[in-house]
Amino acid sequence: MNILVINAGSSSIKYKLFRMEDEFALAEGTVDRIGVNGSNLTHKPFGKAEIKIESSVPNYEIALDMVMKVLTHPEHGVISSINDISAVGHRVVHGGEKISSSVLITNEVEKIIRDCFDLAPLHNPPNMMGIYACKKLLPDVPQVAVFDTAFHRTIPEEAYLYAIPYRLYEEYSIRRYGFHGTSHRYVANISAEVLGQPIESLRIVTCHLGNGCSITAVKDGKSIDTSMGFTPLEGLIMGTRSGDIDPTIVFYLIERVGLAVQEINSMLNRESGLLGLSGISRDMRDILESASKGNKRAITTIKCFTYRIKKYIGAYAFSMGGLDAVVFTAGIGENSAQIRAMVCEGLEFLGLRIDYQRNSNRDKVISSDNSKVKVLVIPTNEELLIARDTAEITKVNSDQ
Ligand code: ADP
Repeated sequence: MNILVINAGSSSIKYKLFRMEDEFALAEGTVDRIGVNGSNLTHKPFGKAEIKIESSVPNYEIALDMVMKVLTHPEHGVISSINDISAVGHRVVHGGEKISSSVLITNEVEKIIRDCFDLAPLHNPPNMMGIYACKKLLPDVPQVAVFDTAFHRTIPEEAYLYAIPYRLYEEYSIRRYGFHGTSHRYVANISAEVLGQPIESLRIVTCHLGNGCSITAVKDGKSIDTSMGFTPLEGLIMGTRSGDIDPTIVFYLIERVGLAVQEINSMLNRESGLLGLSGISRDMRDILESASKGNKRAITTIKCFTYRIKKYIGAYAFSMGGLDAVVFTAGIGENSAQIRAMVCEGLEFLGLRIDYQRNSNRDKVISSDNSKVKVLVIPTNEELLIARDTAEITKVNSDQ
């Protein structure tokens, strides 16, 4: 059984084809700059040379048609025909309040995704275009949607409500939704496996630290709180997003600095975070390098970044009534021993002790043997989880 995983973004489509018998990635790639001049497809078939095809790609259907052609190409392909694709799993960002797990895409599910366009205007519309294009090219193949928000549907109301007039929740669905759910779910489950303990008995804080950063309290296998909120802007300091700020700053910028709402929106999403604080880069590697040369702003940025994470770990340990494990994942979480060490420093009172050798070796478990709270580094693999969910759902469906 081969499953194609599709992540359709605002001007690109990422794809990965899995052979599910051994969960092997046969090929992956990206079509970039869809609808923009200079589009190209980068295709990496396993065991063969990577290729790049430049071509005009005006829309998602043409992009996916290119993907199908390259997957079945006699030289660069990995399957002989598109009939070898058993199902397609789509990453969808927002499922609103109705979706709490991955689902087979039906007309009703499509409507739910469309109803969430307002809540995720940059993500759900392209996700939906990817679905439409796949349905057209593979009309007899089941399609599954795996939602970023679904894992967080178990968050209780005391954690998802904002203390603004309740009618805004009722009328406009303004509440915490949380994102990166697929990643948090994946690494929490792998951590339980690594620790050899049932996830139902663990209190885990998962730290997804990539360009976007979020942190989740996973109690007994369920998300009970997460740092991203109504949108992915809330919470931790990210590559270019501010994370938590006092909302009054927005009014101040309008009234005293004379900025327009759109300018502030763009500033908070694209010019803040690591980039805004450091003035150097959105990329943690550049900031770490500058800090190592003594750059004060870089040093301060790293302190702010790690302090915010520490603050959330503390809050979530209290929310869960204790802490069994802290998990680091995504670009920064998986690769930076220094950031992991700084986050964990001073948490010994919780019974958390890092083993510095294991941390720099990037072992799976980087806490010392006598650490009450285990610390893990687990590479995230959202595509694999999407493929697994898709396989499970389409199998259940074909069994019925
Ligand atoms: P995305 O959220 O776009 O999937 P990634 O998970 O790839 O992003 O994470 C990107 C971030 O990871 C960037 O800030 C990058 O600097 C950081 N990163 C990657 N490798 C390292 C490293 N060796 N040390 C520190 N940061 C790293």
